[in-house]
Amino acid sequence: MSERVVRIAVVGAGPAGFFTVEALLKGTGPVAVDVFNRLPAPYGLVRDGVAPDHQAIKSVAKVYQRLLERDEIRYFGAVTLGEDVHIDDLRASYDQIVYAVGAQGDRRLGIPGEELKGSRSAADFVGWYNGHPDHRDAGFSLDCERVVVVGNGNVALDVARILVRSPDQLAETDIADHALETLRRSRVREVTLLGRRGPVQAAFTNPELREFGALEGVSALAEARELELDPASKATVAGDRVRTRNIATLRRYAETVRRAGDRIVRFRFFVSPVEILGREGRATVVRAERTRLEEQPDGWMRAVGTGDFESFPCGLALRSVGYRGVPLPGVPFDAARGTIPNECGRVLGAEGRPVAGEYVVGWAKRGPSGVIGTNKADAAETVRAMAEDRDAGVFAGSGVASSTAADGGDAGSSGTSSGTGTGSGTSGGVGVEELLRRRGVCWVDKAGWRRLDGCETSAGKARGRPRVKLCRVDEMLEAAGPPEGKAPTAVAVPGGD
Ligand code: NAP
Repeated sequence: MSERVVRIAVVGAGPAGFFTVEALLKGTGPVAVDVFNRLPAPYGLVRDGVAPDHQAIKSVAKVYQRLLERDEIRYFGAVTLGEDVHIDDLRASYDQIVYAVGAQGDRRLGIPGEELKGSRSAADFVGWYNGHPDHRDAGFSLDCERVVVVGNGNVALDVARILVRSPDQLAETDIADHALETLRRSRVREVTLLGRRGPVQAAFTNPELREFGALEGVSALAEARELELDPASKATVAGDRVRTRNIATLRRYAETVRRAGDRIVRFRFFVSPVEILGREGRATVVRAERTRLEEQPDGWMRAVGTGDFESFPCGLALRSVGYRGVPLPGVPFDAARGTIPNECGRVLGAEGRPVAGEYVVGWAKRGPSGVIGTNKADAAETVRAMAEDRDAGVFAGSGVASSTAADGGDAGSSGTSSGTGTGSGTSGGVGVEELLRRRGVCWVDKAGWRRLDGCETSAGKARGRPRVKLCRVDEMLEAAGPPEGKAPTAVAVPGGD
């Protein structure tokens, strides 16, 4: 194992980024790691994606915080790759670069009427109730009685649960204040989840599905006829614990009689949206075709239309059909899969050759699947590749020209280079703080994050909540204060930074 300090940039401070940091610190040799994050606050989906009423899942942030406090780690919050710092800057300053940027876009249905007011993405709704600054002003009014959620994954369950859960219970969480106020005024009485395939094909995990049966003031309902299984689905269920439990849970919901006064959550299957109809520019109905399953030669159970249609009246239609990666400037991108092309975490450029010293983890690597913990094994695989390359002396090149990669192009760097990490210090990327200062970038460092965190948690403590989130970037920067050391001042450099 090589003993020289390897300088590593991790781009993205979410679960994938932190599990990478953890694996790096566990023993690939001495490292100095700089973690860059677009938003001031770290932790990605743990802060902005996991539902506020699932605080236990968020407790993993304590592990990330301990990693962040390590001397080998520096934090650069509020630094955007492609704006404040560029790929070529990173290639010039680090031996290894890890993209842990998640999947920032959401998939669309591609049906007529999707653009109507009141037809929104669940990702937007999740960001809104979690206080993500990009979604702070998303403006959900919840002044309708019926909501349709399209999709049968855990995000669909999250948004449905937040819509029906008692606001008094949500008030004990770190839900964003603006969302809590709106949810207190909400007129929503009924949420219908639409699955285009059957209950066996749903991507729900069972504790999340079961939770609806125990929600105060909520009746969870399903239709027995939609739970009858065809032979292929029966075979799929056999020996599959999650699916067996899901079917049992849904059968209980099919026997449930709605309690008077309850809000309702309906689980519907074999209904594939074909159009969103509206009045005066607002969504009023999701029109869906009833489907049946048809087994494909590769075993995939495909939904095919039956020619029968059903209408679902609603004032809000949330599509929850998965996330999608977006390209980073200068980094290879597989537009078809929405991921950074890679082999075991090594970024692949032109003709499938590894781009020296560049790696990917998490949703940007494998697509938007799995739970938070899935990123641990995923990061371990990437870090193994990093360690092998380190031992072989393969590092990122200095000053390698980048190319735009939205079309799946090559980042332009491959092969072996001497890298930049020949120093013995432990201060991460060479000259990065100086570069940011010259550009006038006011980043959030570890001390700044501690101040911001302290500000949110002490406001929370006063109100019996885990934290009260600051939801605008300027408020967050103010609470964090400037980074330690010389204040950033933009210097106009003719033709340069
Ligand atoms: P997901 O699990 O991939 O589910 C997407 C759903 O959308 C599937 O049911 C899919 O159905 C459906 N869909 C796709 N295109 C559709 C279309 N055109 N029309 C109708 N339905 C369509 O994605 P997700 O719910 O966004 O979750 C992302 C990941 O985060 C998952 O791994 C999830 O488990 C995880 N997550 C976990 C938790 C938790 O552990 N508590 C919470 C939230 C998210 P088909 O199968 O028919 O394609």
